Amino acid sequence: MDTQNLIFIDPHIHCISRITDDYEALRANGVVAVIEPAFWLGQPRTEAGSYKDYLSMLVGWERFRASQFGIKHYCTVGLNSKEANNEYLAEGVMELLPLFATKEGVVGIGEIGYDDQTPLEDKYYRLQLELAKELDLPVQIHTPHRDKKAGTGRSMDVCIEHGIDPSKVIVDHNNEETVKEVLDRGFWAAFSIYPSTKMGNERMVEIVKKYGSEHIMINSAADWGISDPLAVPKTAALMLERGISIEQVKDVTYNNALAAFGQSGQMKEEDWLQDTNIDQRERFNGNSVLRGGRDPRVEKLSNNIIR
Ligand SMILES: [Zn+2]
Repeated sequence: MDTQNLIFIDPHIHCISRITDDYEALRANGVVAVIEPAFWLGQPRTEAGSYKDYLSMLVGWERFRASQFGIKHYCTVGLNSKEANNEYLAEGVMELLPLFATKEGVVGIGEIGYDDQTPLEDKYYRLQLELAKELDLPVQIHTPHRDKKAGTGRSMDVCIEHGIDPSKVIVDHNNEETVKEVLDRGFWAAFSIYPSTKMGNERMVEIVKKYGSEHIMINSAADWGISDPLAVPKTAALMLERGISIEQVKDVTYNNALAAFGQSGQMKEEDWLQDTNIDQRERFNGNSVLRGGRDPRVEKLSNNIIR
């Protein structure tokens, strides 16, 4: 793939579900930073304690693991919509969130919002918007896959109702039906590029041709399901091939994610431009990523990357 040596941010990827080959491939294809939103795991959690360990993993071990492959890892923390329907769990998680939301590398509250648009989802969505407002953090919204257009509109209505500035809200999983309203109302519009479903790469090219690159960003949303961690560089290559300008490609694959989540004060370009060493001799709580007497990779990554 020809990405013309651009560097990328993937602002939505669930790294804990991915293998080290993915990290190597991401870095080799120019992804320098990732944002991992807190989400459900497929298997429902039954206790807030498992949620606490999950959030600790996002700000701890996973951040370290990414660094071992030259990638800066950030996250957003929140109670996802699906698990908001378990009130016992939700109450416990709400107590934990303020502790995690102020940790290093946390760039927002997310991904939060609606799944089935139940009263409990609505309750915890609103409580978390208040938390974001109190801490002055960006919000990353997961829009429902069923009844998407109405659910997306409602997600934004509730933000406005709570006095949240649209410029601090990233509305995720958009499609052709939702993008216009999101942009018209001044929110950030993010697109998840899933292989062969929902938003394919070709459709994304058409959206940028039609709506431009302002306030738009793309992500892989790669997780434990069928997904492609290289969706951002691959879509960038396709956009360039289809004649979209390099400036616009940079906007949707790098600049806009940095501008939106950088409002947290926790994510700066210097993080990856100045400190690009890989040292696999390092350990986290005594653990390393090395196995079977493998030689650790110790190198300074070249900065001949064109931005
Ligand atoms: Zn997600």
